[in-house]
Amino acid sequence: MIDFRSDTVTRPTPTMLDAMMQAKVGDDVFGEDPSINQLESMAAGMFGMQAALFCPSGTMTNQIAIKVHTQPGDEVICDKMSHIYQYEGGGIAFNSGCSVRLIEGDRGRITAEQVLASINPDDIHKPVSTLVSLENTANRGGGSCYDFEEIKRIKHICSENNLKLHLDGARLFNALVAKNETPQQYGETFDTISICLSKGLGTPVGSILLGPTAFINKARRVRKVFGGGMRQAGFLAAAGIFALNNHVARLAEDHLHAQQIAAVLQQKDFIGEILPVETNIIIFEVKGRLAAAAFVAKMKEQNMLMFAVSPTQVRMVLHLDITASMVQQTVDAINLL
Ligand SMILES: *Cc1c(COP(=O)(O)O)cnc(C)c1O
Repeated sequence: MIDFRSDTVTRPTPTMLDAMMQAKVGDDVFGEDPSINQLESMAAGMFGMQAALFCPSGTMTNQIAIKVHTQPGDEVICDKMSHIYQYEGGGIAFNSGCSVRLIEGDRGRITAEQVLASINPDDIHKPVSTLVSLENTANRGGGSCYDFEEIKRIKHICSENNLKLHLDGARLFNALVAKNETPQQYGETFDTISICLSKGLGTPVGSILLGPTAFINKARRVRKVFGGGMRQAGFLAAAGIFALNNHVARLAEDHLHAQQIAAVLQQKDFIGEILPVETNIIIFEVKGRLAAAAFVAKMKEQNMLMFAVSPTQVRMVLHLDITASMVQQTVDAINLL
């Protein structure tokens, strides 16, 4: 099977598994796991941030960040398609007791003007706007990337209005590679950042939350309350260290593969709009003689797995378990349809 359903389906490479087997471990709830401590300081160093916290999932890092940044009754500002709102089980309400102000963004990206217009006035009728959360790359935007100048304008609005700025950077490394940006730029601009190691970077489990030391100390307490304190999880942290050292630059290959597949799709009469392919995700419309579900079924007959994300749209995600020859096989299969 060639699995395009998500970049979460990757399995550790033999060399990553070796690194995991060699890990030195201890009890991380006691702060004694050397591999986790190493991963946390390595990630914080990369982004020029004070501290980091290793967590089981990106949902947990986002939800902890929202919990620490807000009080019940506050309001979180984000794009209407954001993962924190659409795909975290109502966690903003459940965990933090906050309401959400949804913005109609452009492929998952919102502007400084929209943020400014969404901040509530100081009025007892209104929830208190305390947090803005951005997603880069934006998953439902088809892996779209922010213009860093726009992020700086949003940061300026947040600072002027005393709001915190969080980044859901589940696929931030895809954006960094695609736009030739640095982790430091992001570390300087955001109050807190969540990055996933289990997406394009190819580890089996894990996400990292980055922020100031006082924030991460509170986050560590919330992680325990959420049931996310792990013990000898250094085996997982070792996979993360390996991924940060070895799997970042190669994301460019996934982006190239996505371009190659999109170029073939573009020529087919049953393919409608393809969202601009900026990173490793392709979202495209299937129409005319094939419906989205029929296209997915035909591809499955050729051992290629993907999702219909709506009745008319299909999503394909490239990742490190999809080789150049698998991309060629896929291109050939599409050409025969
Ligand atoms: C995958 C993802 C997350 C985190 O998901 P987990 O499965 O909980 O690790 C967060 N944000 C975005 C945009 C994602 O794609």
